[in-house]
Amino acid sequence: MQLIDGKAVAATIKKEIAEAVEARVSQGHRRPHLAAVLVGHDGGSETYVAHKIKACEECGFKSSLIRFESTPEAPLSEEELLKTIDKLNNDPDVDGFIVQLPLPRHIDEQKVIEAILPEKDVDGFHPSNVGRQSIGLPCFHSATPAGIVELLRRYGISTRGKNVVIIGRSNIVGKPLAAMLMQKGDPGDATVTVCHSATPDLGEVTRRADILVCATGRPASVTADMVKDGATVIDVGTTRVPDASKKSGWRLCGDVDFEAVAPKCSFITPVPGGVGPMTIVSLMLNTLQAAQAR
Ligand code: NAP
Repeated sequence: MQLIDGKAVAATIKKEIAEAVEARVSQGHRRPHLAAVLVGHDGGSETYVAHKIKACEECGFKSSLIRFESTPEAPLSEEELLKTIDKLNNDPDVDGFIVQLPLPRHIDEQKVIEAILPEKDVDGFHPSNVGRQSIGLPCFHSATPAGIVELLRRYGISTRGKNVVIIGRSNIVGKPLAAMLMQKGDPGDATVTVCHSATPDLGEVTRRADILVCATGRPASVTADMVKDGATVIDVGTTRVPDASKKSGWRLCGDVDFEAVAPKCSFITPVPGGVGPMTIVSLMLNTLQAAQAR
């Protein structure tokens, strides 16, 4: 079994990006600029945004954080958020921006996503980018699936002719990953099956997987009997579970029962340190691409 070290691969890619940025700057270009919009004080979102800002520093990008307070007593209005998006769309100094999800319930997330100019949508969530991706046109790829594909590529794990099973059909992981892996080419050329909560006998499907991607957010729910010997297992899940031994009182847990599943695998990603760091790096690559395109 070989551990797929997403943290190490991400560090290498960040160095590559930083070199590309310095080369651009020495040719007289501006540094790529990523802006992040954060609404409220969701613990997970605060952490994700902090990691993204840190990654910008490591890559030599300029970054801006636009914070909005929003409480049940004084909620941020959807209108005000849309105004900010309009400003960022029209700000020539900003190459790309993200609105960190989830948003408070009173704000329509889809409306917010669709308000972002596709050319600045470095999360790759706008229907224009999603549609372009699904028919294999140049676009901003959704960050987590792009990170997974890059991990497979850098570990020399071919997807051509392989049975790939993805558990989870969300718009940010399962669906875009399925679209990427069924494209012609390698990475791609896989026979992809997508499972969800209405899939009967999940184990019967997952045991056919050469590459199994788990993205449900159900901690340790993928057990050894669900995995074929020699499979590659990619664990996307990140759920905070109580852990009294940690200062924070919690630890991150993947969807896979790692201890039991790992010995059966040819390759497996850990949680944390697998897919997570690659998601952030994909966002950096999209931002560099946005800056290069302008
Ligand atoms: P999501 O929108 O909640 O989707 C979960 C998916 O899992 C749904 O398609 C759901 O099916 C399916 N599912 C739930 N229970 C199931 C079951 N018993 N059997 C089969 N399928 C089941 O989640 P998400 O946003 O894709 O995120 C999934 C996990 O990945 C979460 O832990 C999240 O924190 C993590 N994540 C990590 C990263 C990273 O960078 N590491 C990035 C994104 C997400 P239905 O569609 O039928 O409801």
